[in-house]
Amino acid sequence: MKRILVTGGAGFVGSHLCERLLKEGNEVICLDNYFTGSKRNIEHLMDHHYFELVRHDIINPYMIEVDEIYNLACPASPVHYQFNPIKTVKTSVMGAINMLGLAKRIGAKILQASTSEVYGDPSVHPQPESYWGNVNPIGLRSCYDEGKRCAETLFMDYHHQNKVNIKIIRIFNTYGPHMHPHDGRVVSNFIVQALKGEDITIFGDGTQTRSFQYVDDLVEGTYRMMNSRDGFTGPVNIGNPVEFTMLELAKEVLTLTGSKSKLTFLPLPQDDPMQRQPDISLAKKELNGWEPKVHLKEGLTHTIAYFDTLLKKDPSLV
Ligand code: NAD
Ligand code: UDP
Repeated sequence: MKRILVTGGAGFVGSHLCERLLKEGNEVICLDNYFTGSKRNIEHLMDHHYFELVRHDIINPYMIEVDEIYNLACPASPVHYQFNPIKTVKTSVMGAINMLGLAKRIGAKILQASTSEVYGDPSVHPQPESYWGNVNPIGLRSCYDEGKRCAETLFMDYHHQNKVNIKIIRIFNTYGPHMHPHDGRVVSNFIVQALKGEDITIFGDGTQTRSFQYVDDLVEGTYRMMNSRDGFTGPVNIGNPVEFTMLELAKEVLTLTGSKSKLTFLPLPQDDPMQRQPDISLAKKELNGWEPKVHLKEGLTHTIAYFDTLLKKDPSLV
């Protein structure tokens, strides 16, 4: 049994990861400041003997003895990370310094949840880890993109300078149950709009693409990365290479929900990448043949069922 700290554990991805780590027989300490996370996401774990919840903000140092740290704390949706951009940078940068300092002191292995956003609006397609990216340093998305890029730098520097055992994953667009109903990201927006019979908001003309990964595939990749061979630090892309336009996504959501919602076209946000698709050759090679298993239709079906239940239980939430 390992003792594992999960920062951002009450968030969308963190809650699924905590559940998986408990299932593997570990003791899990979930740390969160509840900015975008919620106790609702982890309430099914609260009675677990080896689960502990701590309210803490990672921009402040935290002391604990653990074997591993998964550093997920950071708002991930553009709406949320742009709400207080300075705080977003602090969370990424000071949070990384605090967690790396902790890992160094106690000799823990630490994994960073980085993002495909480090590639910005990419001019190489699909994106391999060797691509340095095309990021605007002074735009609306910069607090997140540059914060995460700086966190990667810090991880590599703590590794080289202090021999901290690090792992970096670059997560591509992921969806599933426990996304915040007002998350603002495209999958939850379209599903909630379809279930409520509201217009589906397509930004731009809907021809921009994303590759959507179901959360179970991400958790599997994350777990394998933490347990990958010594010396393999990454960064490694974890995402689903099957690419869809936003129009295709909207149509699939309408079909699966049977909704009569209409499509409405709104302006494309600043610096919105036109294309994004992971090259997952490195993950396949290093993570025991890891690749996504869940098709969009199946993943959407689970996610629609989740939001449908939430909507019926408490309509004010959605
Ligand atoms: P989320 O917003 O649902 O979860 C983030 C969690 O971190 C929340 O519970 C939030 O309350 C907590 N948090 C935020 N700031 C904090 C702070 N200063 N101190 C303590 N806790 C804090 O987002 P998510 O989708 O679960 O993303 C988890 C991680 O994965 C993030 O680091 C994100 O950047 C990364 N990621 C996610 C995606 C995706 O598509 N979901 C894509 C790329 C990267
Ligand atoms: N998007 C959209 N309608 C929405 C929300 C998002 O068309 O209601 C688009 C957005 O402009 C982007 C894509 O969907 O091109 C993915 O957006 P999301 O915020 O989910 O993720 P990211 O832009 O960070 O990849």
